[in-house]
Amino acid sequence: MDYPLVVGNWKMNLSLSEAVVLAGQISRNAEYIKHVGIVLAPASVFVYPVLDAMRTRPKNLFLGMQNVMWEAEGSYTGVVSLGMVKNVCKYAIVGHSERRKYFGETNEMVADKARFCLDSNVTPIICIGEQEKFNLEDHFESEMKRMKTGGGILKQIEESLSKIKNSEIDKVYFAYEPIWAIGTGNSATGIYASAISYIVRNYLKEKFKVDDGQIHILYGGSVDEKNVREFVMQPNLNGLLVGGASIKVNSFCEICKITSEAKSGK
Ligand code: PEP
Repeated sequence: MDYPLVVGNWKMNLSLSEAVVLAGQISRNAEYIKHVGIVLAPASVFVYPVLDAMRTRPKNLFLGMQNVMWEAEGSYTGVVSLGMVKNVCKYAIVGHSERRKYFGETNEMVADKARFCLDSNVTPIICIGEQEKFNLEDHFESEMKRMKTGGGILKQIEESLSKIKNSEIDKVYFAYEPIWAIGTGNSATGIYASAISYIVRNYLKEKFKVDDGQIHILYGGSVDEKNVREFVMQPNLNGLLVGGASIKVNSFCEICKITSEAKSGK
């Protein structure tokens, strides 16, 4: 899809009735927001009721999983498989920083999950992000090193893509989410997000021998209807991953509308 993507990560929020109402409201609004793909990622137990609430759903509205397993079935207590949401969820968030922090998710697991998504015809949205803000102006060399080693963002990408072929990169989305910006109200600036995405782009282009057009990078971290313009104006970004603001109908629809207008040049 050439359009930007706005993904709403509802996390472990909303009651069943709230989720259904919100999905219905977004669905009705999405009809009028043309130039953007909108993905709703409810708690997995709500996927089917949310699908029902989107029955007359416009073509640009999709469902996504907040997490996936790397196997189709088996003895994995408490986990939902992609087969259980076959033909329902087109996208899956993989390796969110909260999964890495609270559930010990590693780059190796992310690689298995991303592979399984592609094998299941689901687009993985691989999350990457740094713990502490980069200072590229004063410490370019050492900050680049920080990206390439340990838990650095380029290392996260390298290891997360270990099971993906070069020809498959265009089927993967990356969500660049600085951890210090998630849920804090302290978003990155558009320029900062764009600069880091530019570094990520160049890394992918060189390492996987792909073109700019095959790379999709979203920004996530305290995006709301007030700061969204900063991000959607950046040429290195292809959309947004939204947490807190995605469960407020007016905020989320406004974010989608502004993204659509910016990218369609209106
Ligand atoms: C997220 O958790 O992916 C996220 C971007 O959250 P928030 O928008 O609340 O910072």
